[in-house]
Amino acid sequence: MFPRLSVVLPLLVVAPVAADFDCSAPPLDEPSAAYVAKVDALHRQLGIPSEYTEDFDLTLQPEAETLKLIAVDPGQGAFLMSPDAAEAWLQMQAAARMDGVELLLLSTFRSVFRQADILRARLEDGELLEEVLKTSVAPGYSEHHTGDAVDIDTPGATAFSEEFAETSAFAWLEENAEAFCFELSYPEDNNHGIAFEPWHWRYQRSGTEI
Ligand SMILES: [Zn+2]
Repeated sequence: MFPRLSVVLPLLVVAPVAADFDCSAPPLDEPSAAYVAKVDALHRQLGIPSEYTEDFDLTLQPEAETLKLIAVDPGQGAFLMSPDAAEAWLQMQAAARMDGVELLLLSTFRSVFRQADILRARLEDGELLEEVLKTSVAPGYSEHHTGDAVDIDTPGATAFSEEFAETSAFAWLEENAEAFCFELSYPEDNNHGIAFEPWHWRYQRSGTEI
């Protein structure tokens, strides 16, 4: 076992440039029939009710086929993102650093099978499916499948905590993320019935459904 390091080692050092992000990267491909069938099978295995997607107002998220390795954390493994989102993220991180704000990665791309494993583990721990679905999205519906979503941390904050909303990193993101095409997916009282996730931001493409 490697010791858990708190600092993610960057593979690419990016000099901030006046990048022009017009947030018009091409939309993701529509999910294939095979993908829909894979997601359906996992939902049946996990016992997710058929009305789930309607109740939570969620859209099926395609799984990224092209990914870029942007960082390696000895504890958490590789951080992969779609090439468009990776470029925007690295520029945003560099810009924040210039302002004295450290944006750290907690998670990026996650496969449909990995998402199913997360839910399965929580159910095996005795949590009720209804509770699990308030904080973990069902496989196929996580924005992390696309490689466009990031969960962000900053030194001194508690990972995946609402306290992140009180940090200077969150204030910086509120002010600047949009210029890099990143938007908060689950603000307070969102219409998905998903808990407030101040750490979860998604790269916006032309035609991205929010
Ligand atoms: Zn997330």
